[in-house]
Amino acid sequence: MAGNRTFTMIKPMAVKNGFIGPIINKIYEGGFRIVAMKFLKLSLEQAQEFYAVHKGKSFYDDLCVFMSSGPIVAAILEKENAIEAYRELIGATNPEEAAEGTIRNLYATSMQKNAVHGSDSDENAIVESNFFFSEFERF
Ligand code: ADP
Ligand code: MG
Repeated sequence: MAGNRTFTMIKPMAVKNGFIGPIINKIYEGGFRIVAMKFLKLSLEQAQEFYAVHKGKSFYDDLCVFMSSGPIVAAILEKENAIEAYRELIGATNPEEAAEGTIRNLYATSMQKNAVHGSDSDENAIVESNFFFSEFERF
């Protein structure tokens, strides 16, 4: 059975561009409940650990530098079938392919700076949520 929680980050460029509010609005309009949320800046080492599954890929080094370049918003979101529902709300990884009205279609500036992260499986949502939040920070 599909789980009801996913993990997201609003990436540094979307934060810099003033899109925290609009993105959180889209999340609420999409029917998600916020379980946990924080505003923080990752160190390069933390970004490398978070994205370790992509280690060795051509975009990995630049991605980790970018993701540690400024503050982000990290959050756990709840909705039925959360992983799939959220990936539908954010759109394709490449913003040029992201459907009209999706978060990446509206707020991304490039493939790397594609506004938000969204977990790709229930297992990774748990790992990613645990990376940022203790049990006492979830409601
Ligand atoms: P998603 O975030 O949609 O799950 P991936 O897990 O494949 O996508 O990639 C993680 C992140 O790495 C992407 O969100 C994007 O920021 C970056 N990325 C992926 N592929 C590329 C690429 N070809 N060039 C630049 N950045 C990329
Ligand atoms: Mg991914």
